[in-house]
Amino acid sequence: MLEGRQYAVVQNDEVVFVGTQAACEKFRKGRSSFTVVSVDTGTLVGDKINEDAEKDVRAFGGFSKPSKMPGSSIGYPAKKACPLGKKLCDVPGSVCSQCYAQKGLYPFPVVRAAQDRRYHKLKSAMRTGAGEERWINGISTRIQAMHIPWFRWHDSGDLQNMQHLMMIFEVANRTPKMRHWIPTKELVLVRKFLENDGRIPDNVNIRISAPMIGQRITPEGLTASSVSDPQGKDNGKVVADPGFQCPATYEHDRPKKTKGRCMDCRACWERSVPNVDYELH
Ligand code: SF4
Repeated sequence: MLEGRQYAVVQNDEVVFVGTQAACEKFRKGRSSFTVVSVDTGTLVGDKINEDAEKDVRAFGGFSKPSKMPGSSIGYPAKKACPLGKKLCDVPGSVCSQCYAQKGLYPFPVVRAAQDRRYHKLKSAMRTGAGEERWINGISTRIQAMHIPWFRWHDSGDLQNMQHLMMIFEVANRTPKMRHWIPTKELVLVRKFLENDGRIPDNVNIRISAPMIGQRITPEGLTASSVSDPQGKDNGKVVADPGFQCPATYEHDRPKKTKGRCMDCRACWERSVPNVDYELH
């Protein structure tokens, strides 16, 4: 998980390298089909970040860049921004009791500060129609500019309420070339939306996360994810019928360069994959 000024080399809408600006420029050297982009603003390197782009970023607080993923994300403070998750944190055997977003680089002050900033931006955006519009427009414009068509919502934090879900759907509607993956524990909220004849935009996949380690759920009309613990790091429970097993977490013998990364896998974005099982790490 990386924060701050992070850069990526992109070819045919795919990220082929992530690093500092200097490292990306070096990687690109002599390859005309490669482009270097700034991950947190979506600005092409060489194009000066103009005032409009800065204004867009200010409206939502900038992106996060999970090192595992092909594209960017937007992370909020774990627990504080997890309506159901904050209750599950204290439940032994729950996925939230082993929350990855409270480990590794996530507790670093610079990461926490960025998450708090985004959370504050979201809360204040939801207070007025104009704020909502600035937030939607800011994110839509920047992710579109990034040339990476895979966006994962909430590498940390979760859906706040129906208004937040609607704002995300509006971002999806305004970015038809992007594929959006929304992992969430807020099944009740999504159900309520569907029961009121709501229609999920075609470029969005909502994947409902099972609350407990070793549990698989099958929410009607939606995809799901589970967490298994074959190495006994918590309760040792594994999902009996796991479906697709996430290669980034299950393939332990990969070379260092590709270890823990999605590479060419996009299963989480696919509605045709009913369940993705992650190994607890
Ligand atoms: S299942 Fe595929 S897309 Fe999802 S996190 Fe794992 S590697 Fe990435």
